[in-house]
Amino acid sequence: MGRLAPSPTGSLHLGHARSFLLAWWHARSRGGHIVMRMEDLDGPRCEPRFVDQALFDLEWLGIDWDGPVLLQSTGLPRFAEAIDRLLHTGAAYPCVCSRGEIRAAQSAPQRGAAEPRYPGTCRGRFATAAQALSATGREAGVRFRVRPGSVVVDDRFAGRHEFDVEASVGDFLIGRRDGAPAYQLAVVLDDAQQGVTEIVRGDDLLPSAARQLLLQRALGLPAADYYHVPLVLDDTGRRLAKRHDDLGLSQLRERGTDPRALVSWVAASAGIVTGEPLSAREYLPLFELTRVPRTSVIAPTRF
Ligand code: GLU
Repeated sequence: MGRLAPSPTGSLHLGHARSFLLAWWHARSRGGHIVMRMEDLDGPRCEPRFVDQALFDLEWLGIDWDGPVLLQSTGLPRFAEAIDRLLHTGAAYPCVCSRGEIRAAQSAPQRGAAEPRYPGTCRGRFATAAQALSATGREAGVRFRVRPGSVVVDDRFAGRHEFDVEASVGDFLIGRRDGAPAYQLAVVLDDAQQGVTEIVRGDDLLPSAARQLLLQRALGLPAADYYHVPLVLDDTGRRLAKRHDDLGLSQLRERGTDPRALVSWVAASAGIVTGEPLSAREYLPLFELTRVPRTSVIAPTRF
């Protein structure tokens, strides 16, 4: 069972189209199922209009999925129950540190890192979130306790990678201070809930896979097979983002672009070259994930 898990925080672009097509081709070309999940937990950044737009854009590309769309925000009681379980066993603990405080506590060589390492300030400090609140006047988030040592991600596409989660990010957040579950926790619970066995996604999430493996083990969830594929970059080597409006799927659709132009660009980037552009479904018999180059791909400036 494969899955597609967009975050509805903006328009999808060519980079998303590539990851999702590769995931879809990988599942469907072998007769597999694929489920859809909207990762809509990111507070006000997730807007309902982006949910509809993303589903529409993916259908326009020729992608389909099995069963209903799971909105991640409907899983809140399940996430809270899992967090409680981890708190109860001591695998996690309440933490009142703000992002600013964690940054300020960073050691010099770490300063400026995208994600500061958590120095363990609240480890062993509070028995419960209620106690943290009464002692400090602050709502507590929840951190997962990470033991020293390396975590091996045996990626089916990107190969074997070792991560020292303890040294690089330390005890990581699984429950945010506003009460919402953090991405790392929600993703493993929902992958298990939806019966996902294969995860094809961008390789910016490869380091996250190590954290997700730790959580799967702690929660007794089955480990999925990971396939992290290279991202699409712009001509300056930066990953595609909102600023690349010309490569937004909605914009291209509204401009009357033939979806086969995009799909065939993605197919070519995956090592499939055909005489004329085909639809997503027509590429299925030609697709083989092992033929996808292991290097990042540069986006065209327009279609
Ligand atoms: N929702 C995440 C994103 O759009 C993907 C999460 C995942 O594939 O695990 O970046």
